Amino acid sequence: MVDSQRFDVIVVGAGMVGAAFACLLARASPAVRIALIEAHQSDPFDPHTFDPRVAALTEKSRAVLQSCGAWAHIAATRGSPYQAMEVWDAEGAGRIHFDCHDVHQPNLGHIVENSLVVESLLAEQAKLTNIEFFCPVQVARYQRLENEVTLDLQDGRLLSAPLLVAADGGNSAIRQAFNFATREWDYGHSAIVTTVETACAHQYTAWQRFMPTGPLALLPLASSDGRHYCSLVWSQQSDEAERLMALDDSAFCQQLGMASEHCIGQILSTDKRFSIPLRQRHAIDYAAERVVLLGDAAHTIHPLAGQGVNLGFADVAALVDVLSTAVARGNDLGALFTLNKYQRQRKPENLMIMAAMEGFKRLFASDNLALRWVRSTGLTQIDRLQPVKNQIIKQVMGL
Ligand SMILES: Cc1cc2nc3c(=O)[nH]c(=O)nc-3n(C[C@H](O)[C@H](O)[C@H](O)COP(=O)(O)OP(=O)(O)OC[C@H]3O[C@@H](n4cnc5c(N)ncnc54)[C@H](O)[C@@H]3O)c2cc1C
Repeated sequence: MVDSQRFDVIVVGAGMVGAAFACLLARASPAVRIALIEAHQSDPFDPHTFDPRVAALTEKSRAVLQSCGAWAHIAATRGSPYQAMEVWDAEGAGRIHFDCHDVHQPNLGHIVENSLVVESLLAEQAKLTNIEFFCPVQVARYQRLENEVTLDLQDGRLLSAPLLVAADGGNSAIRQAFNFATREWDYGHSAIVTTVETACAHQYTAWQRFMPTGPLALLPLASSDGRHYCSLVWSQQSDEAERLMALDDSAFCQQLGMASEHCIGQILSTDKRFSIPLRQRHAIDYAAERVVLLGDAAHTIHPLAGQGVNLGFADVAALVDVLSTAVARGNDLGALFTLNKYQRQRKPENLMIMAAMEGFKRLFASDNLALRWVRSTGLTQIDRLQPVKNQIIKQVMGL
């Protein structure tokens, strides 16, 4: 006999976005029964080393994690607040400095390690009696029936619910299984990520240098041993990224020191490096009858302004809001009529941010003299216009 279970919502993918969504919906609507499915058992967060994958979170995202109940643990374990941002153009004199004190805030945001965020969210979901966590488990088959979606798990169990939420990341199998069309292209870029130790203090500043071959970011990390660590996100044209990956640690540190103009001194050491190919992807629709896309399953974006998971957490807040209203009114959670409200809220903002990032990337990649002048003069002019800068800071902070 098949072991079958019925839920109100099935979430596939317990990354930062899927786990946050399950926690937030479970807390907002305690009567809703949620299945959270994850293919891989994540490694436990290790406080003795840094995760090479980090995210710069806005205040809005921090608030989402707080509403999920996960923020206190993240902050107590290792949340690295940053107070300033220094952005400059490698090819000209353009430079801009943002400071949280200009907008009377204690910080601009937090650098958080992805594994710590996931671990904290999973610890929270385990406390909620209306979430059942299936992990590690593979889905063998998805099927859409008239009033529900069914999932055959590879271990023989059968799950069903009126709504399936795809939070299964950029290569979403659900997006493909249910024929969601996407617009996508290869950036021809890869991001090298790792943790580096620097000779000078990071001054709680996120340092970002734009080069024609791609941006380089050094993001400040909290440390307890009196030494100075930053998370590196160095986006490069793929062939250049390959060359940098092939260097030994000492040569890599030397190249990174030069590329960062030694803004925080020599690069003393590097952890293991990882190279991640970058691809822009945007689903044309986020919702179909009984199925909805969330986070990277709906959109993946160049990491140059650290917006990816911030957009994902904004998706989470919007979808929970729409579904909680539907629950209160007794509406069908998986009806396209319900899910379209989420799409209407999120798609325009995601599109706008993605277009802005693309424009930014092209502007800084160009060696056209006129554009170089715009870059150089523009950054310097804005740096002198405090009210304009304050607006940008608020936008960056998600206020
Ligand atoms: C170099 C780099 C730097 C970045 N920096 C920032 C930043 O500073 N700020 C920011 O906001 N964003 C940043 N991002 C983006 C951010 O990392 C992503 O937006 C975020 O990780 C997406 O989270 P997600 O939960 O949607 O997807 P994922 O993290 O991909 O999680 C998907 C989950 O689904 C699981 N899964 C997949 N398929 C299945 C299946 N069939 N069954 C069950 N489970 C499945 C996976 O195992 C995984 O756990 C960066 C990205 C990169 C590449």
